[in-house]
Amino acid sequence: MSSSSFLPIEADFATLLKEKFKSATESGSLKFTQSTEADEVEDEVFTFQVRIAPSLGQKSSLQQQQQPSVLSPKFDPFENPEPALFLTEIGTNHSLVLNKFSIVPYHFLAITKKFESQSSPLSEHDLTVTWSLLQAKLKGQANSRLLAFYNCGSLSGASQDHKHIQFIPVSKDIQLIPDFVLEDFEAPRSRDALGIAPISHPGLPFAHFILPVPKNPTIDDLILRFSALFSRTLTVLREHDQSNKSYNFAMTSKWMFMAPRSKEEFEGVSVNSTGLVGLLLAKSQYQAELIKTVTPLHILGSVGLPVLDKTEQQHDY
Ligand code: AMP
Repeated sequence: MSSSSFLPIEADFATLLKEKFKSATESGSLKFTQSTEADEVEDEVFTFQVRIAPSLGQKSSLQQQQQPSVLSPKFDPFENPEPALFLTEIGTNHSLVLNKFSIVPYHFLAITKKFESQSSPLSEHDLTVTWSLLQAKLKGQANSRLLAFYNCGSLSGASQDHKHIQFIPVSKDIQLIPDFVLEDFEAPRSRDALGIAPISHPGLPFAHFILPVPKNPTIDDLILRFSALFSRTLTVLREHDQSNKSYNFAMTSKWMFMAPRSKEEFEGVSVNSTGLVGLLLAKSQYQAELIKTVTPLHILGSVGLPVLDKTEQQHDY
């Protein structure tokens, strides 16, 4: 399959995103709460962004209010997306919607039109949509790029069971962990013939796998790389007897990142895919101080899984 099979993102997508965000916020359908400016926290050779978003504490109760009744099965907000939040359809299987509880402007989600489980790996369709969106130019945000992320499984930070891949603009000035690993770290380059042996940084105290994405990839290039990360991730989960197959996945137009999870939170600090790549969110000043004192690497080590030694790695799925 060639790169022409990716979906064209309309030139006015950025305008649509901007206008819908404005109208949904003004009508109250979208609850936008600004987070604080990020504090940069240095930990070993890594830099983390720590923000406080008090609204996160209220989010779960707001989400619970969406449930029609306590007796009804869990409400699926993506079964019939709210018109005020609906952006467009993309491809045959997905729709794009704005995040109802945003702390980052223009945070949007690609949701499957029909229910699919948030515990299933990304499919060819999901990766096609994700890559296509990563090419979108954000209007008035020339200094930003899109970060895509997928919180998979109940320990990954996911709150909805209906499959959704999320997108947020991130300043190009912020070096996320995979940027750092690929740009500043002389990783022993892969020796496998396909060049898709995932890279891990020895300074990160949790199992994680990173692969660069080639320029102008085909969908097969993306599937191959996703599968390589997934295979390593499953091996770590298996070797640690982790029956709950939760992991975080993040992607830009330059790389893919994946890390298995053992816990959803550390002493009340929830961590999702954005946290694993260096963007940590605190619900309060107390939590922000806790993150700095305990250190980001300690927290990520605690919610992730230990790195396997070489012999255990030999039997990848
Ligand atoms: P996660 O918590 O990672 O599973 O992501 C689910 C996202 O969906 C969160 O960012 C929520 O704020 C968002 N969300 C919850 N309800 C809705 C809704 N009705 N419409 C759009 N987004 C929603």
